[in-house]
Amino acid sequence: MTSYAMLIDGKLVAGSEEFDVINPADETVVAKAPNATDAQLDEAVAAAERAFKSWRKTTAAERGEVLLRIADVIEENAEELIDLLVSEQGKSRKQAEREVLQQGAAGLKLRSKLALEPKVVQDDEQGRVELHYRPLGVAAAIVPWNFPFGIAIGKLATALAAGCTLILKPSPFTPLSTLRLGELIKDIVPAGVLNILSGDDSFGPKLTAHPGIRKISFTGSIATGKKVMESAARDLKRVTLELGGNDAAIVLDDVDAEKIALPLFMGAFINSGQTCVAIKRIYAHESVYEPLVQAVGAIARQAKVGPGKDPESALGPVQNRLQYERVLKVLDTVKSGQGRIVAGGEIAAGKGYFVPPTIVADVQEGCPLVDEETFGPILPIIKYSEVDDAIHRANASGYGLGGSVWSTNEERAAEIARQLDTGSAWVNQHPSLSPLVPFGGAKQSGLGTESGIEGLKGFCQLHVVNIRR
Ligand code: NAD
Repeated sequence: MTSYAMLIDGKLVAGSEEFDVINPADETVVAKAPNATDAQLDEAVAAAERAFKSWRKTTAAERGEVLLRIADVIEENAEELIDLLVSEQGKSRKQAEREVLQQGAAGLKLRSKLALEPKVVQDDEQGRVELHYRPLGVAAAIVPWNFPFGIAIGKLATALAAGCTLILKPSPFTPLSTLRLGELIKDIVPAGVLNILSGDDSFGPKLTAHPGIRKISFTGSIATGKKVMESAARDLKRVTLELGGNDAAIVLDDVDAEKIALPLFMGAFINSGQTCVAIKRIYAHESVYEPLVQAVGAIARQAKVGPGKDPESALGPVQNRLQYERVLKVLDTVKSGQGRIVAGGEIAAGKGYFVPPTIVADVQEGCPLVDEETFGPILPIIKYSEVDDAIHRANASGYGLGGSVWSTNEERAAEIARQLDTGSAWVNQHPSLSPLVPFGGAKQSGLGTESGIEGLKGFCQLHVVNIRR
């Protein structure tokens, strides 16, 4: 059985104990991951503090060079990393390839060019006011299991580009591709600048409570995000929280249902619905409702669900047993009378956490499938008559991550998109993310912003120098 090591102060180290990482496609053990001890966490934070002293003095171009070299290593080892990601996460090979090469290597290249320059906001006979962005210090990045590699890369690239040093913690469900990356790049990143530590459920709270951490960049559920913020409050650590969503797609009366069915399906079922910004509710106008339900249902029935390593599989399993049971519970509520199942809904016997893409019509608010984030392959399609009512219902939610409007009239759609209470609103696409475009959630979907220059600012202290003349 392969064991993976952690990266602490430029050295590969084992934990005192190990835990099993399970392949969700067949429930076998993929490999063992180390459980970081308290002493190893202290050691990693101390190393990151030491490294910060010199890393903060490097130029943005020098830091960018390091990121580019990490991108090269990812490309050189892409096949191994993709296979590992498929085994630990479950996603299809094609989606894993996109995560490693696009979100990963290409994302690093784009983020390597990001730099914050000082800004002069006043320079006249009264005085001169300069804005400087100083890296906060040692940051912690906490990553979920849905896009373990891509999200880890986004956080490490932004933290390092800003001049921070980092403790990176993958999810205990999916630590392997991140740990393997650490092994591959240990001689490329200066010792202590990037430390990768894995652990079981008890490790996250220790990391967020550690007094040496100055910033926490967290992606995960709303419930955990609140705990992270509570822990950070003790010494006012800076936090960025990228949390859950229940994104609505509003389909207007002028669409060609056949034409938009596939992009809507992809937007909902990418990564088997386990995507924060997946479409999780469709509001379709009554005039296009049934054709749309039938068109999306037909695509769902044809989508092949199976192990990610099978090149025929379009969709892999749900990532872990806990999440699988949550999804089955939601499916039970649908079967007990909350909606009409148009496609999917039947769970095949056998190993693996497989759930077919399931389309539910004739459903309303007031049930878990519509009101909460299922985070699995079940999609409700809801009928509406008046567009103002659809906007109101899309916004009547504690979530506010993303949303979209679908129409052949761009101006009309954009006008509606501007009324969505979300961090991002898209027209005729959902989702659309880029390392260069700021991204964050409204309401309980998050706090702060990732990506682009705004994301870099999240790892910095604004320092104002004000000179009187
Ligand atoms: P989770 O909240 O259970 O876990 C996320 C991470 O936090 C893991 O690494 C976990 O080990 C760690 N953790 C758990 N308890 C902790 C604690 N008390 N203190 C510190 N860390 C702790 O989330 P998940 O189930 O891994 O991911 C799914 C959720 O993430 C969904 O709600 C999804 O919408 C959300 N998500 C959001 C975004 C976004 O950008 N907004 C992106 C991806 C996923």
